[in-house]
Amino acid sequence: MSAATSTAGGSPGQGTWLIRGARPLGGTPADILIEGESIAEVTPAGAGRDRGAGRPVTVLDGDGLIVLPGLVDLHTHLREPGREDAETVASGTAAAALGGFTAVHAMANTEPAADTAGVVEQVWRLGVAAGYCDVRPVGAVTAGLAGTQLAELGAMADSAARVRVFSDDGQCVADATLMRRALEYVKAFDGVIAQHAQEPRLTKGAQLNEGVMSARLGLAGWPAVAEEAIIARDCLLAAHVGSALHVCHVSTAGSVEIIRWAKSKGWQVTAEVTPHHLLLTDDLAAGYDPVYKVNPPLRTAADVAALRAGLADGTIDCVATDHAPHPVESKETEWAEAAFGMTGLETALRVVHEAMVNTGLLDWSCVADRMSARPAAIGRLTGHGRPVAPGEPASIVLYDPAAVATVDPSAHASRSRNTPFAGLKLPGQVVATFLRGRPTVLDGKLAS
Ligand SMILES: [Zn+2]
Repeated sequence: MSAATSTAGGSPGQGTWLIRGARPLGGTPADILIEGESIAEVTPAGAGRDRGAGRPVTVLDGDGLIVLPGLVDLHTHLREPGREDAETVASGTAAAALGGFTAVHAMANTEPAADTAGVVEQVWRLGVAAGYCDVRPVGAVTAGLAGTQLAELGAMADSAARVRVFSDDGQCVADATLMRRALEYVKAFDGVIAQHAQEPRLTKGAQLNEGVMSARLGLAGWPAVAEEAIIARDCLLAAHVGSALHVCHVSTAGSVEIIRWAKSKGWQVTAEVTPHHLLLTDDLAAGYDPVYKVNPPLRTAADVAALRAGLADGTIDCVATDHAPHPVESKETEWAEAAFGMTGLETALRVVHEAMVNTGLLDWSCVADRMSARPAAIGRLTGHGRPVAPGEPASIVLYDPAAVATVDPSAHASRSRNTPFAGLKLPGQVVATFLRGRPTVLDGKLAS
């Protein structure tokens, strides 16, 4: 069902909005009044019928819809500057809004890399200009992501982009001394180092999870221990220096165990899992279709089960998309030649719905926690991940849980089409997204 819009106040924009009968966090139906940038009132459905009387008010029929706080992605590749053929800040954040996101963290492996105040400010300004969601640049840990010397972490933190998350994602900070120094450095401004955990000497030439499938296909295997060894090392380093580590895209059952152990010690360790690692396995590589080629690789059904359980019990803090757009020529080629990565912003909530809600592992209130509140906290991002309550920023998503549709990449706003979910029937539909009281998405389409 789509939300019928009856407008008494001109074109969509900031103003007064009344969302009738939608269910905050999947609970009891309520009327939600938005005034300016904030939620003004949340009242039992029907009680708010005459609210906004005397003012121009746009009414949305929220019957059957769930209201969640705007989603926050800790791990998005927007590709600008440098690879605008794959994605731009504008196209990537449009995709984010359509997926229900109100904030994304833009990874640093652009060309040039986001390793100076100048580049992170450029990305941040492009996000403001596009206006679809808040863009928080992630700063590189090492200059040029080369893994040899620290980037200008302090200058990026002090810049207009106010960088708090640093990562060489795409590359692992393999040098333990550099990783230790980075963890020490960011303590001064409450920063966090987000590690792409992959011991490079164990994954030279690796193409696919090391196991039955890699052996059958004759592709070089990618052992779980390459990820787990770095996570274990970094948890120990974070504890040693008393700093904050975030583990990107956890993909193995063993990694979940190590993070559970580190958390039991009270160390400042957080972790994310991607939607694709929650739903897909390496069996899909049987046809050599590079749309399933990703770093870290798809793993086994036992790993998927452990990742789901880890997200459900909070060992894994949050879902992050690792949205990694690539042009057609980089993906529609032989497996060994193809680029690693999958798009994910426009399908993330629907995949989590399928993998976690329809399996009974998470309710909608926990989805709000894992896809909004916790990633906002890890990113040191105020103004996002807030409750759906009066006085809070009106950054929310309206989601129809009863919808079912086949994923059609040609309808995506992303410039790239490399989604592994193409043709898959998934539940749910993002109906509307609001960023501080202004709709970025209405009736499932970008609001102009
Ligand atoms: Zn990565």
